[in-house]
Amino acid sequence: MKFTIEPKSSSSKPSAIFQIKNETFGQGLFQMMAGPCSVETREQIFAIAECLSSLGVKVLRGGAFKPRSSPYSFQGLGLAGLQLLKEAADTYNLITVSEIMDGEDLHLMEEHVDILQVGSRNMQNYSLLKKLGKSSKPVLLKRGCSATYHELLLSAEYILSGGNERVILCERGIRSFDAYTRNVLDLSAVPVLKSLSHLPVIVDPSHGTGRRELIEPMAKAAVACGADGLMIEVHPTPDEALSDKDQTISLESFKKIMGDVQKLVHSL
Ligand code: PEP
Ligand code: MN
Repeated sequence: MKFTIEPKSSSSKPSAIFQIKNETFGQGLFQMMAGPCSVETREQIFAIAECLSSLGVKVLRGGAFKPRSSPYSFQGLGLAGLQLLKEAADTYNLITVSEIMDGEDLHLMEEHVDILQVGSRNMQNYSLLKKLGKSSKPVLLKRGCSATYHELLLSAEYILSGGNERVILCERGIRSFDAYTRNVLDLSAVPVLKSLSHLPVIVDPSHGTGRRELIEPMAKAAVACGADGLMIEVHPTPDEALSDKDQTISLESFKKIMGDVQKLVHSL
């Protein structure tokens, strides 16, 4: 059975609309997701959760098992990070998203997290995708940094064909020749993936650019081209973030972006 790879117009499959806790996700239903690259301390994650809640944001992200390029970089707090994320989210009534790196952790992740993120490095980890197809938790599937649209949709297909229909696609930048930006945020992915698939498509301008000053313009551009959500890395003291500080914005900057994005979403 195929769900995603036929063009929507020739498929009988309507746009996916699904609930995650009390929130609705789907094409045309904008959802902001924000939080630190990594959960670091109780103070950090609670300050972020409080800020998101005051702005009406419903989804808190935070990595606990981190896929770092270097084995010597901060690897995340692991289980302690998941526990802090859950505590903060429960306190402020938020939905959580955190990355699963290893199928062995599935049970642990399902116990603590509402949306399981598959990072770009694992987009083609087919044994992980098959396990997620059998999970009762929704999946946020990030595009691999060298993956084509078709490959991303086939990875989604692994999850959908396993029986898990709650999949959100995420454009997070692809590799190119210019190292000025960490990746090249491919905004064409948004209208293309939305035409080829019934799934919601969100954009991550943080990993997509790697640069703080580019988050605001690229977030707005993503909304303008039809993104069904954004995922943005925020921190109370971005310069002290233990991972991805160059692309992490302050809570003050996030507030401004949130206001601008809300206006834009309502104007479309
Ligand atoms: C992340 O969102 O924390 C992350 C590592 O992203 P990506 O997989 O897109 O690099
Ligand atoms: Mn990060």
